[in-house]
Amino acid sequence: MSGTWAPEWVLRRQIVAAARRLHAQGLMPGPAGNLSARVDEGRVLVVPSGVPKAGLQPEELLVVTLEGEVVSGIKGMKPTSELPMHLEVYRRRPEVGAVVHAHPAASVALTLAGVSLAKPVLPEAVLLLGEVPTTAYATPSTPENRTAIAKWIAEHDVILLARHGALTVGHTVEEAVVKMEALEHTAQTLLWAYLAGEPEPLSAEALAKLKEVRAHYGR
Ligand SMILES: [Zn+2]
Repeated sequence: MSGTWAPEWVLRRQIVAAARRLHAQGLMPGPAGNLSARVDEGRVLVVPSGVPKAGLQPEELLVVTLEGEVVSGIKGMKPTSELPMHLEVYRRRPEVGAVVHAHPAASVALTLAGVSLAKPVLPEAVLLLGEVPTTAYATPSTPENRTAIAKWIAEHDVILLARHGALTVGHTVEEAVVKMEALEHTAQTLLWAYLAGEPEPLSAEALAKLKEVRAHYGR
């Protein structure tokens, strides 16, 4: 998949549009959350630290190397403090073109309550998200999150960060955003289900069929 990334100016617009969309849905309140996209094999576009997503501008994004060195950006602006987590994804997954980290409330609430999303309950979540692991607790805005996701990112596109947020990856910005939206919708549905009772996991037979469908679509 390498070498198929959109031009940098397109990626800047896509990231800004995605940030505003996720902010409008309450998934990136205030300065929370961050996004990045791969410009080429060795460079990544990333949002600056501390900028509210509602007002993010395309020219405010920084270009960094996979080692975290800033190549270009507005003077005085620094990359997001979660950059080490983003770079860990790009280093381990050469086919990934975009990374989104958000603070989706229902998803985080499930981690607080100790409910795992690894248990397959909703068929469409199995198809779109696959199994969703939850990391061990790591301090937000520190390199601890890089270590926390390292164990999971090779095999998973959607990861819950305990007591903190979620991480989604995709070939494109749109793909990573759609997974974040689907994750939060799944979590909200599960919360409703737990209010009404104890949701039953999918049967082994139903799960096997879903895995066939997922493999058919190359996921
Ligand atoms: Zn966060």
